[in-house]
Amino acid sequence: MKYPKPPGVIPLDNILPDEPLLMMGAGPVPIPHKVASANSVVINHLGETMSQVVEQVKVMSRYVFQTDSGHVLGVSGPASAAMEMAICNLVEPGTRVLSIRNGLFSGRLAEMATRVGGDVTILEVPDKQSVSPEAVEAALKEGGFTVLTVVQGETSNTVWNRDLAEICRLGKAYGCLNVVDTVCTLSTMPMEMDEWGVDAVITGGQKGLSSIPGVSLIAFSDDAWTRIEQRNAPMAHWCLDARLADKFWNQKSYHYTAPVSGVLALHEALRLICEETLPARFRRHAVCSAALQAGIEAMGLDLLIPAEARLNSVVGISVPDGVSADRIRHIMSEMYRVEISGAFGLNILRIGQMGEQSRTHNLSRTLHALGAGMRVAGGRVDPPAGMAAMERVLAANIERH
Ligand SMILES: *Cc1c(COP(=O)(O)O)cnc(C)c1O
Repeated sequence: MKYPKPPGVIPLDNILPDEPLLMMGAGPVPIPHKVASANSVVINHLGETMSQVVEQVKVMSRYVFQTDSGHVLGVSGPASAAMEMAICNLVEPGTRVLSIRNGLFSGRLAEMATRVGGDVTILEVPDKQSVSPEAVEAALKEGGFTVLTVVQGETSNTVWNRDLAEICRLGKAYGCLNVVDTVCTLSTMPMEMDEWGVDAVITGGQKGLSSIPGVSLIAFSDDAWTRIEQRNAPMAHWCLDARLADKFWNQKSYHYTAPVSGVLALHEALRLICEETLPARFRRHAVCSAALQAGIEAMGLDLLIPAEARLNSVVGISVPDGVSADRIRHIMSEMYRVEISGAFGLNILRIGQMGEQSRTHNLSRTLHALGAGMRVAGGRVDPPAGMAAMERVLAANIERH
């Protein structure tokens, strides 16, 4: 048989739940209706409409990144593709790179830099701590680094690099281009590209921005762009070549067919952020995350990371001995239709507070499901005490979200 018909394929409607599960894990996150409907439209990737959309995406991205940079580019691919674009354009064989590693994603930047031939030194950050500026300066003093990589939030273990502005200042002072991964944090907390001296900022769609996965954003500073224009080694990656991408994003010409629907979705996600304004959005995230954290602790559970290094956009919860994180997640999903994340290897749970996840109605449903799931799985918790503590924090911060 040359063309056998694949047997037993079921239509999507029969596979997907009637009502989507509430996505409260480490991403992807729920998307607003405007984003979803924009994502269902296809337009000409080189037409006038697209060019107007691209212009607006750049204008709004500059606001969200807090930059005047003329080198904002969209990337067709996951946030990891944007990470790779930063690395493969700025790192050549032999380039000395200092990679601050807090966990999986910051480690990925180091791995990418190694793969393109960079001479990479890893600054390992002790567990459950933000990287300290003193440690970074000591490493930079060794001399000769021209690229520094760091994450603002390490989603994998929920650590926050709270001194990012100071780290970037040091990076600059020691002659580095600063590559910063803001995938889980952008638009949930301050990040000021120009003010802080960030040279390449990376984000994905499916986390802080509350857009779809697979269409990402990157911005390069003028210093970074000069380095890109002066690089000696040929670019091995055609799709990720920043100078070629610039043709589409800044010169109204063709590189590859842009993911038009995804760019339209991103446009709407960015527009909603601009409408809300960054200060209001930061406040919403801070209040919602604080309320969730208070609820989790009052229920009798421990948060994974001490307050001073704790990420707000993804909250890590220690699972009591003898209780299985996977079982809790299964119960939450089956009985309460709420999805949260486990972790890569650790017996912990992670709840996201990114974009649409930071809404009071989503918080109540999630905390309730966590408490109930924990109890069914054999953990000793007090769900009503948790709900009450969460409500107190929300009530003290008048505006409802
Ligand atoms: C999710 C995440 C990534 C990777 O994003 P993908 O879209 O899965 O490639 C990178 N860095 C951080 C900090 C993240 O949270």
